[in-house]
Amino acid sequence: MIAMAIGEEAEMTISSCLKKGARFLEAAGVPEARTSAEFLLSHVMGQPRFSFYAEPDAAIKPAHAEEFQKLLSRRSDRFPLQYLLKSVPFRNVVLEVGEGCLIPRPETEILAEIVLRTLDEETGGHGGPPLQILDVGTGSGNIAISVAKERSHWQIIATDISDQALHYARRNAVRNEVQDNIQFLQTDLWDGISSLAFDAIVSNPPYLTTSELSRLQPEVRFEPEVALDGGENGLSFFKRIARNATMGLKRGGFLFFEIGFGQDRAVFKILEDSGFREIKIFKDDGRIKRIISARLGSTHG
Ligand code: GLN
Repeated sequence: MIAMAIGEEAEMTISSCLKKGARFLEAAGVPEARTSAEFLLSHVMGQPRFSFYAEPDAAIKPAHAEEFQKLLSRRSDRFPLQYLLKSVPFRNVVLEVGEGCLIPRPETEILAEIVLRTLDEETGGHGGPPLQILDVGTGSGNIAISVAKERSHWQIIATDISDQALHYARRNAVRNEVQDNIQFLQTDLWDGISSLAFDAIVSNPPYLTTSELSRLQPEVRFEPEVALDGGENGLSFFKRIARNATMGLKRGGFLFFEIGFGQDRAVFKILEDSGFREIKIFKDDGRIKRIISARLGSTHG
């Protein structure tokens, strides 16, 4: 039971609710307690956070106070904030997320950027040909949807082995009005897809090692293991995708991966051994080598 009863006081105001909520989360060891409390109250009241600063003494309805208290209690168990808010911003779109679907991370925004930048340079972007793109392990649909939103003439196939994840991905495509540009398929990698001549394959596969999985932040334990577990050394999906991609890509086609901390050399080697060239590595905002791009048997020899 939580040690706070927000709804019990005669007159609850925004300011007093937030203060108590933040104190409660802080006592439970939740990081960024005040901000989390603000996001949750904003969600419950259907009001933007900044409005709280304009009207700190506004009264809160008992039903809202009660709902806020429920969410605080869930959050104090380290249930992810994004699952409670049911949405997460990703580059140019907002996505619905929930249990069974990996929460998109900021690093993956860089992956989507690099896909766009690389393919634009190579093919002319908006004015270029209608490219065929495959997103392997699409999760919430974040990469496919974000890219489709900006390149409406590209045809994207997005796969995932999890029907729970695809449930969110399909809803997110509709919500962002790109459902006609993306075909979602439940399958392992791209098993069963017959037209194997993609211009690019992109994937943020599960890449955490078994030992990393055992040391995760409490929040990540609520996320699907199938989206995180990359096998003993975290590399199993990179190997499978790189080897199979040589048959799935056009000659000169691109492969883009998000990779885990310290995996750059191993993935570089996997790509090289699988016949990829022009291998490039990009860092994330924390200066960690996070994205790798490569080209299959370059047209330039
Ligand atoms: N970046 C995620 C994490 O650290 C892992 C995502 C993945 O395995 N693709 O939790």
